[in-house]
Amino acid sequence: MPHVVTQACCGDASCVYACPVNCIHPTPDEPDFGIAEMLYIDPSTCVDCGACVTACPVGAISPGHRIPETQKRFADVNAGHYSEPAADAVRFPVDALWRKPLAPIDKPRLRDRLPDPLRIAIVGSGPSAMYAADELLKNPQVRVTMYERLSEPFGLARFGVAPDHQSTRSVVNLFNTIARSPHLEILLNVEVGRDVTLDELREQYHAVLWAGGAPTDRPLAIPGVELPGVQSATSVVGWYNGHPDFVDAGPELDSERAVVIGNGNVALDVARILTADPNRLATTDISFEALAALRDSSIREIVVVGRRGPEHAAFTLPELIGLADGPARVWVDPADLEHLDDTVVHERENAEKVLLLRELAARPVPEEPYLRLAFHLTPECVLGDGRAEGVRFRRTGTEEFVDLAAGLVFTAIGYRGRPIPGLPFDDARGTVANIAGRVVNDQHPVPGLYVTGWIKRGPTGFIGTNKTDSRETVENLLADAEAGLFAEAAALAR
Ligand code: NAP
Repeated sequence: MPHVVTQACCGDASCVYACPVNCIHPTPDEPDFGIAEMLYIDPSTCVDCGACVTACPVGAISPGHRIPETQKRFADVNAGHYSEPAADAVRFPVDALWRKPLAPIDKPRLRDRLPDPLRIAIVGSGPSAMYAADELLKNPQVRVTMYERLSEPFGLARFGVAPDHQSTRSVVNLFNTIARSPHLEILLNVEVGRDVTLDELREQYHAVLWAGGAPTDRPLAIPGVELPGVQSATSVVGWYNGHPDFVDAGPELDSERAVVIGNGNVALDVARILTADPNRLATTDISFEALAALRDSSIREIVVVGRRGPEHAAFTLPELIGLADGPARVWVDPADLEHLDDTVVHERENAEKVLLLRELAARPVPEEPYLRLAFHLTPECVLGDGRAEGVRFRRTGTEEFVDLAAGLVFTAIGYRGRPIPGLPFDDARGTVANIAGRVVNDQHPVPGLYVTGWIKRGPTGFIGTNKTDSRETVENLLADAEAGLFAEAAALAR
């Protein structure tokens, strides 16, 4: 039986390079890698060797005959990626893409022109930082010191992944292995900008690699968002994961309905956790405080609202399958699935999402508490006198208004990077200005300053996306080191 990639796919592509027959796509050098919702195994070429299973850091790959019942749909999803598209389907020119031979990763070569030792400071210890350290430490000359402001390492892998996604959280095992390198030192409870300045780091190290992520949420600019009862979904994620910044961010779960504005994977995470059976959550890493609060919750319905139609939903197909086939109670109003944009529906992943949403719409309304996916509603204002009492939406593209009563409103419209003193900020993108990881001032690279992860590319992709991203930055950093661009910093470090 061929192997199958399932829901927890982190996209770090370790499996791609482990596969001896190049049957896992897209590969990092194929154009759809950056936008793919997961990786797929071609069942017609898989030789069932299991090399990918060992390579996957999150246990997302299973032999076909051993896929758990709740993940069975992924066998079709994997195979579907390689089947001939329907005549009217819109997709990439497949032959050009998935038949492309895999370009080998450069064999780690001895970079004998690197300063020895080459001292690098990495700011942050989340996924992009850990993948960058792993890449750097392939060179015996490199010494890495990581600066983490919290008392625990691994950033969003620890504090961002939903507690019921245990498989995805297991990526911390990989990061623990990387952290065991004798050439890596992780300094916890040290905040750059407070306990040590960026300038001081630049004096002490040949290069500084900023991997601090996108630590804030994008604000929703509508009247009423300042009312009590409105908060960002990211603060709720921090709260149920025990993030020290969010211990007081627990929502008042005393109303019957909550609304989540935005329908990305963060929105799904929050709605799923807040409607989950607390006894099931008790077996996960959820914080004790959040679990206790959820046991007393009055929430009966959480409505996750997208401003566009289901064919444009921001959540990914693997997450929707997890919702539909897992223990979550989910419902979609069939009326929301009318008037779809055919040009978009025909794209493969969108088509599969719409099919699955139709399946959910055909199910009976589930037992409370449940999660409802609603579409075509653009938020106009939060209603309420002294506290949120609901949200007024406009039916997108019309002048019709729809009021949804709700005592809690979560905004889930994306993360955003924060300006960092000493680094040029691209305000439009919410990132540090950079070219392929080299920090740039007026398009000119600043030697010795680099970025990776969400502060480099914006808040998109999965945990494993950072592996390819960090590899690019590290390649450029090491090329600059070999070119002697750190000579001045090296003299200072001595
Ligand atoms: P996201 O995927 O970018 O979704 C943002 C949502 O907010 C979209 O539905 C967007 O609608 C909506 N939105 C934006 N501006 C809006 C406005 N002014 N009014 C109403 N709606 C608005 O963001 P995210 O959910 O924070 O996720 C961030 C990244 O982390 C994504 O790449 C995601 O896949 C990843 N992530 C993955 C997982 C997982 O794999 N389990 C879990 C969490 C996060 P439009 O589409 O119409 O713009």
